[in-house]
Amino acid sequence: LIAMSQVNKWFGSLHVLRDIDLTIDRGEVVVVIGPSGSGKSTLCRAINRLEPIDKGEIRFDGQVLPAEGRPLARLRSEVGMVFQSFNLFAHKTILENVMLGPVKVRKEKPAAVRERAMGLLQRVGIANQADKYPAQLSGGQQQRAAIARALAMQPKAMLFDEPTSALDPEMVGEVLDVMTSLAAEGMTMIVVTHEMGFARHAANRVVFMADGQLVEQAPPTEFFANPRSERARDFLSKVL
Ligand code: ATP
Ligand code: MG
Repeated sequence: LIAMSQVNKWFGSLHVLRDIDLTIDRGEVVVVIGPSGSGKSTLCRAINRLEPIDKGEIRFDGQVLPAEGRPLARLRSEVGMVFQSFNLFAHKTILENVMLGPVKVRKEKPAAVRERAMGLLQRVGIANQADKYPAQLSGGQQQRAAIARALAMQPKAMLFDEPTSALDPEMVGEVLDVMTSLAAEGMTMIVVTHEMGFARHAANRVVFMADGQLVEQAPPTEFFANPRSERARDFLSKVL
């Protein structure tokens, strides 16, 4: 579904993505780990072109990602993204937040979208919060709303960039549970996270990045039991 080949990106003289080759199949759950500053967020942002790349190619569903314009907007709406900060619109209710994309961007009929949105809020366990404003919800509830909002666009893949890092510890589980069930339902997912438990249990593959390079990738059992590179061993000794 996603194919990156020889992707390179610089911020000025800083080489943040180096010759990245990464292919993600439909239904795969790929967890990206690595030290701070290794380029994980930039990789995610490159996939839906929030960040332009300088060299190489990214294909989504067979199509080369366009640099701009309407084709880009369409492709981007096929990839849902969830960030560390929930980015909900503060002056809109939870239900309105979830409905916004399909109604405003896709011009879908509000009645149909409302039904789908309520179904999604049900699925992430906050249907009873639909008419509240984001500030009235806990962090975990807000992040689940952000996931429902991304799903409302019926994306073909979901990107998660440290979705639980800003949460109080007791709320991490409820968000990971939603992500785990999404994975089990066959959603294609790229997840940047420090939650090694999630990586072990939900990932099909772990990708380890350091200094802008994709250092190694392997199924989680293999990766955690037997990391091949010195850098991965060093990283794991610090986080596990
Ligand atoms: P973290 O674990 O801290 O989130 P990361 O692996 O997500 O780190 P990135 O955010 O992708 O790392 O950043 C990679 C490198 O690019 C870092 O050195 C960062 O300082 C730099 N960088 C990121 N965004 C920009 C930008 N807009 N302008 C200049 N440099 C940037
Ligand atoms: Mg990051």
